[in-house]
Amino acid sequence: MADERVDILSLDRAGLEGALRALEQPAFRVSQILRWLYQRGASSFQAMTDLPKGLRDELERRFSLELPEIVARQESADGTRKYLVRFANGVAVETVGLPAGERLTVCFSTQAGCAMGCAFCATGQGGLVRGLGPGEMAMQVLLVAADFGRRVTNAVAMGQGEPFAQYRATMGALRLLNDPDALGIGARHVTVSTCGLLPGIRELASEPEQFTLAVSLHSAVQATRDRLMPGVRTYPLAALRSTLIDYFETSGRRPTLEYALIGGVNDTDAESAALIAFSRGLPFHVNLIPVNPVPGTGSARPDTRRVEEFREALADAGIETSVRIERGADIDAACGQLKQRHDLEE
Ligand code: SAH
Ligand code: SF4
Repeated sequence: MADERVDILSLDRAGLEGALRALEQPAFRVSQILRWLYQRGASSFQAMTDLPKGLRDELERRFSLELPEIVARQESADGTRKYLVRFANGVAVETVGLPAGERLTVCFSTQAGCAMGCAFCATGQGGLVRGLGPGEMAMQVLLVAADFGRRVTNAVAMGQGEPFAQYRATMGALRLLNDPDALGIGARHVTVSTCGLLPGIRELASEPEQFTLAVSLHSAVQATRDRLMPGVRTYPLAALRSTLIDYFETSGRRPTLEYALIGGVNDTDAESAALIAFSRGLPFHVNLIPVNPVPGTGSARPDTRRVEEFREALADAGIETSVRIERGADIDAACGQLKQRHDLEE
């Protein structure tokens, strides 16, 4: 007989609350279960020893609980670790842990693969396999905390997948990361990065938490952006710009614009002028990322001097700009390098 139980990792806190209400359980049981799952990594309901035996049995009848596993792990010369994390049903994603002094940042995946097809991105080359549930996203962070043996201070949805392709699941995950009963990471230290799905940006603006928004721009010239990011052709730059202004006005939070510099494509003077026109006078922070060349995509890094000139042009125009220092490139763990490793799946 097919297993008709609900995967507990497909639920967020609100989903779990609903399920326990239906079982006529008091609200504090939700906190207990979340702590077992997302703080202690309990691998069965029977292990949740402060729940009454009858409830543990009932949970076992209704929900399946299979923790994801790290099936491969690589460590970079700079301390960055990349993991292949496999879920119970066989699908696997990549997760990255980036230690820096007191900080430990986890870059987690929101989908196995991605449907957006960005030209320069390794994940985009293979299409979408499936989206992850809120618990599947949050569990990646717990696995990295356990592997490093310390608390995760920052989390970014910048691994594989487009977070706003499944807004509800992603919000559920961001809330689990922030929840004191789960990972307990401060909301400002939880960042979600989107290729520019405007409905998601609009919804995020009115959420009460102070989550940080990053938007992948990569070009302020429509024709260039259409070529680089075919999945967001339906959301033109002018609409993106006004949505970001509304986002700032509604939420009071400043979005970051991510811009992967690709030699001869979006690093020209015309592109820099367009980016200045797009951002001038607006409270955006621009993050320049010299592209990580992905084999087969034909994108190359501009030389260091060009990156510096590009940065200076923006700074001279009064735009707050930084250049991201890439980490983990020697183990293919840097931005845009993550891809499914089918050879490691069973
Ligand atoms: N899908 C989301 C989040 C995951 S990608 C998004 O696109 O925003 C995280 C970041 O890495 C994005 O800014 C993405 O554009 C960038 N990226 C993708 N491929 C890259 C590459 N080869 N070099 C540098 N950055 C890349
Ligand atoms: Fe998907 Fe982001 Fe890669 Fe584009 S850059 S293909 S949206 S993961």
